Amino acid sequence: MYDVIIAGAGPAGSAAAQACAKAGLSTLVIEEHGTIGYPIQCAGLLSLTAFGECGVSKRSILNTVTGAKVTTSMGSNLVFDAGKPKAYVVDRGMLDFEMAQAAADTGAEFHTKTSVCGISKTTLRTRGIHGRKEYSFRILIAADGPRSTVARLLGMQRAKLYLAGIQADVPFTMDENLAGIYPDAAPDFFGYAIPLGKNRARIGLCSGQNAKERFAAFSRQFADKKIHLVTGTVPLGVMPRTYGHRTLFTGDAGGFAKPISGGGVYTGIRSARHAAAVAVSCCEQDRFDDTALSSYETLWKDDIGGLLESGYRFFRLRRRLFPEDIDRLIRALNDPEIINLILQYGDMDRPSKLLKQLMLNPAVIGVLGSLVRPKFFSLFRERSSGNPAVR
Ligand SMILES: Cc1cc2nc3c(=O)[nH]c(=O)nc-3n(C[C@H](O)[C@H](O)[C@H](O)COP(=O)(O)OP(=O)(O)OC[C@H]3O[C@@H](n4cnc5c(N)ncnc54)[C@H](O)[C@@H]3O)c2cc1C
Repeated sequence: MYDVIIAGAGPAGSAAAQACAKAGLSTLVIEEHGTIGYPIQCAGLLSLTAFGECGVSKRSILNTVTGAKVTTSMGSNLVFDAGKPKAYVVDRGMLDFEMAQAAADTGAEFHTKTSVCGISKTTLRTRGIHGRKEYSFRILIAADGPRSTVARLLGMQRAKLYLAGIQADVPFTMDENLAGIYPDAAPDFFGYAIPLGKNRARIGLCSGQNAKERFAAFSRQFADKKIHLVTGTVPLGVMPRTYGHRTLFTGDAGGFAKPISGGGVYTGIRSARHAAAVAVSCCEQDRFDDTALSSYETLWKDDIGGLLESGYRFFRLRRRLFPEDIDRLIRALNDPEIINLILQYGDMDRPSKLLKQLMLNPAVIGVLGSLVRPKFFSLFRERSSGNPAVR
């Protein structure tokens, strides 16, 4: 019998495994792929803070960016460059592998090329390279990504909305210091071009509708030679209950990706650390009922609940804006005073600090008021009636 079994060896699974093993729990990680970190389903853009959360060496860093250039389909631009490192572009395969290695070095056991295929009470069934197996656990941590098999097997309600993400590495020359953001490349999300170094970029787009066709249209402006093509899923909105049946749901399995950007490494790892702390406390008290597990929700809500909630609200507002609205907004933001605010308060992982500052700026209030007054007020009506992202 293992104290804890973790399904999935992405950043959330390995972070949870390392923390559980470090606390002395017997820890088993089940990963369906033979090589941890592959296939890569990520643009690899991580803030310095998010990268720090991974606790890995700098080997996976491909490039460092100092700011961003926002370009609308109508041709308006907004550039903000801090002139100092703001984010890293990483090789997610290497990063995930290093995180798993760190967990294994701490004492966690890994079974790769093995998938979770059944759960009953305290028994996990797997199939894979060693055939069909059964393992007993005291507590289970689901870190098996956006299509979580564990959530499906346990009949948990999932995130309501899923976006499809498509990206490719292409030969393309762009400013190596600036991430490119294309805010209206899709009606409900955005496109990006991330410099990977000299003459190479990672271009991509996420959308809830027709992502393939939109990506084909978006990618035409870059290059037709696609070296590496990736598709993936981004869940939006945390699942209504992130615990139950002796199980804690973390990372994309729990719907923890940030609704404002789709980035899920930072929030996934934060959720996984809270899950590990609760797993340790449950094992110490030998209590695995829902009351004992529920402290997980208190922990993650105190830490990242606010940012997920405001991100979801922003996402809902963004969905109602048309390309001409976005273009006007970008033109309004292109003001030295506002760019200074962006540079001072901008934080990829905690954008609410900047949003609050922007909402106090008369120029921004003016544009938002004229553009989206009805949309904006309906958003606040939603706020008082509760938010499906974080109840
Ligand atoms: C196109 C795209 C671009 C993105 N870009 C960024 C970005 O730039 N920055 C950022 O922060 N985030 C980005 N994300 C989101 C980010 O990739 C995820 O939020 C992050 O990987 C979540 O980590 P995780 O550990 O929860 O899940 P995952 O990384 O998905 O790991 C889940 C693991 O579980 C395994 N698994 C699944 N099912 C089973 C099973 N039944 N049995 C055993 N193992 C199983 C999988 O093989 C996988 O290894 C992007 C996502 C997409 C789709």
